Amino acid sequence: MPKAARRKRHHKPPFVPYARGFKTPTHKQSAAALGSPPPGTRDFMLGVGFFTAVPRPICPNDWLAQYSEDGQSYADFLASCPWLSGPRWKVPRSQPFDPAGAGLPGRYPGAAIYLAGLGDFSKQAETVAVNPRMSELMDFAGAFFCVPMRELTGLRLDVGRGKAALIPAPGSRIRVQEIRCRFHRGSGRTQLHAPSLLKALVRALPHDAICLMALTTHDLFDGEGDLFVAGMAAGASRVGTFSLARYDPAVSFSPEHWHGVTLDASAPAEARRETILRRACKLMAHEVGHLLGLEHCVWHACLMNGSGHLEEDDRQPMALCPVDLRKLQALGGFDVPGRYKRLLAVMKNLGMRAEASWVGRRLEFLEG
Ligand SMILES: [Zn+2]
Ligand SMILES: [Zn+2]
Repeated sequence: MPKAARRKRHHKPPFVPYARGFKTPTHKQSAAALGSPPPGTRDFMLGVGFFTAVPRPICPNDWLAQYSEDGQSYADFLASCPWLSGPRWKVPRSQPFDPAGAGLPGRYPGAAIYLAGLGDFSKQAETVAVNPRMSELMDFAGAFFCVPMRELTGLRLDVGRGKAALIPAPGSRIRVQEIRCRFHRGSGRTQLHAPSLLKALVRALPHDAICLMALTTHDLFDGEGDLFVAGMAAGASRVGTFSLARYDPAVSFSPEHWHGVTLDASAPAEARRETILRRACKLMAHEVGHLLGLEHCVWHACLMNGSGHLEEDDRQPMALCPVDLRKLQALGGFDVPGRYKRLLAVMKNLGMRAEASWVGRRLEFLEG
C-alpha cells in the first residue's frame, strides 16, 4: 500500500458552539467556586492534575450546546441548601431534628436516603439477567454519599397491558395507587406516565426519609408527543424516579415510535450487564445529588455535569470534582480519604476497573 494511503487522516472534531450566554469558567473562577478550606482541614484541590476542565460540546445535542448555566459554587450551595441550614425542612415532626447538628446525619438523626427498585432488578429470568441487583446499587450509593442509605423494600409496580399500579408493601397503611400509562397493542409495550408515578411515590415516602429515589426498569413518558423521558424528580416533594429501560447497549430504539424496540440477542450478556450497571450508578448518584441540592457543575469534568443524551452520559466521569466533593462532604461530614477507600472497595467488587484505578491513584496521592 502506498505510504500516502496508509497515513491516517486527522479529522478535526466539528466545532459545536456553546449555548448562547455560556462562558467557560477560568481557573481563577473554578478556584473561587471551591473557596478556601477551613483552617486545619484538607485542601480539596490537592492534586489538581486529577481534574480536567469541563469538556466542550462535540455534538449539538450535548448539554452545554443547549443550555447556558452559571454553575453553583460551594458558597452558593451552602446558602441555598435547605438540608444544611434553617428550620426543619419537609421531614415530618415525628422525626428527630437538631438545628445545631452538623450535616445531614447531625441535623436529621436516624433519617436516611431511600432507594427503591421498581421492576425486574433481582429476577434471574434471561431477559432481565443483565439488569443490576439492588444490593449492588445500594453498595455503590452508600460508598458514594457516605450518609445513611436504606432500601425501600416491598413496594412494587404491577404493570399489565395498558394498566399499572404502585402496590405498597404488605402491612403498609398506604393504598394501591393507579399509575397512568399508555399501551401499544402491536408490540405489547406499556409506558408509564412519569408525573403520575411521582405523585404515587410521594404517598409512599417513609416517615424517616430525607428523600426517595425510585429506579425502574419500566419505560417512562411525560407528554403524549414524547418518545420517552429518562426520569423526573420533584425536589420540593423529595422524590424522583428514573428509568433504566433504555440503558441496555444491545437494545435499539426507534427514533419515531415510542414502542419501536429491537434487541440484538447475540450481544454478550456480561458486557451488557457492565454497561447497564455503570450507567445506573451514575444516574442514581447524579439524581440523588440533585435531590440533595447539588446543581449542574460547570467547573470541571464531573459527575454533576449536565447531560443531554446517553452518549454524553457515557463520556462523563463517575467522580465528583473538588467543588462538588466539598458540597457532599458538608452534607455527609465524612473523611475524604475514608470515602475514597470505601468507594475503591465497592468499585473493585463491582468490576469497575477504570473507575477504581482513578480512585486508587487519588487515594495514594492524598495519603502521600
Ligand atoms: Zn442533572
Ligand atoms: Zn463538579
